Amino acid sequence: MVQGRQACLVSEKIRLFTVTNHRHESRICEVMAFRFEIIKKDSSSQARLGRVNTDHGSFSTPAFLPVGTQGSVKSLTPEELVEIGVEAILGNTYHLYLRPGHETIGRLGGLHIFTHWEKPILTDSGGFQIFSLGSLRKISEEGVTFQSHLDGSSHFLTPEKVVEIQRVLGTDIAMVLDECVPYPSPYEYVKPSMERTSRWASRSLQSRRENDPALFAIVQGGVHRDLREESARALVEMGFQGYAIGGLSVGEPKSMMMDVLKWTTPLLPKDAPRYLMGVGTPEDMINAVSLGIDFFDCVLPTRNARNGTLFTSSGKISIKQARYAEDGRPIDETCACYTCRHYSRAYLRHLYLAKEILSSRLNTIHNLYYYMNLLVKMREAIREGRLLEFYQSHTSSQGLETECSPPFQSNG
Ligand SMILES: [Zn+2]
Repeated sequence: MVQGRQACLVSEKIRLFTVTNHRHESRICEVMAFRFEIIKKDSSSQARLGRVNTDHGSFSTPAFLPVGTQGSVKSLTPEELVEIGVEAILGNTYHLYLRPGHETIGRLGGLHIFTHWEKPILTDSGGFQIFSLGSLRKISEEGVTFQSHLDGSSHFLTPEKVVEIQRVLGTDIAMVLDECVPYPSPYEYVKPSMERTSRWASRSLQSRRENDPALFAIVQGGVHRDLREESARALVEMGFQGYAIGGLSVGEPKSMMMDVLKWTTPLLPKDAPRYLMGVGTPEDMINAVSLGIDFFDCVLPTRNARNGTLFTSSGKISIKQARYAEDGRPIDETCACYTCRHYSRAYLRHLYLAKEILSSRLNTIHNLYYYMNLLVKMREAIREGRLLEFYQSHTSSQGLETECSPPFQSNG
């Protein structure tokens, strides 16, 4: 079976020189068997149902990629992730570069073998962590110098080096080095930063080699419309396999995040995947999908799980509350996850208060299952042309007043 699949991928690799849509295909070297198919477009919004194909299998979109910061989605095994329905995960280049080191991982066969995760992996560029965790960073045209948050050692990363690190890791989707500016940042700071991020993206593209992972650009520009538009246009002109929207969910109001998506997504190629980085809540994801976003990553479900905050079909609950001390019901009576099939709220509260390791594991299984199931339902809704109805039913069952009006609009 495996041999058959690999043979198929090899022939696909030969056939798939195309790399999506771009006017500048000649600038792109042959990539791994990366391909994005759009299966259906929603009639009442910009939402798309699709599939991303890589050398390590494919994943359906809209998708949510759990975060495996240190080469592990905290507390779960790859088999457990697969059972939950996870089809692709994210790894953090910054963390893996610092520890254990990308060269060590490369010598051990690459990230898939090292972590025993056989399905698609997207690695971020480390830009977000360098600018949020690293200290004493110094940015120049050439690259960024920063001190490790682990031991204070000094490091210098360039766009080319970041592509090389992800090549050695053997990821399926690599991201370009970018500067993620904080919110709020003045226009005078954001403009040159965005322009440098675009020049870095161009250098990243130039440094690619045959059989490299697919490379995605990252649209920046803060919350300034003209800068976001300029960033998107410049990156699209260069021709990448996919486009991410970065620098959001960093403290700006939700309505502003949706404005940035409304300005940006129409400028991105219709047949390339669009990735919204570091987002978000279930409601953020439904809104963003309706604006044409295809996939997401976020620490929210896994971090919340470890903090005892659990997602349910009728809103979030905090399992530590005294009201659950003798509650024999599962977290969510409509949930079919392993945790809900076998454990009560009372037991999960006890594990949490007793600081048992099992607490993190069972809560993470439930929260990730909730997210995966939400995406399954979202994809069904797009397939059946009822995403708006799904959005309304979700917000009403969660008892939510949305912070911004539903972004659904005609496709025209
Ligand atoms: Zn559950």
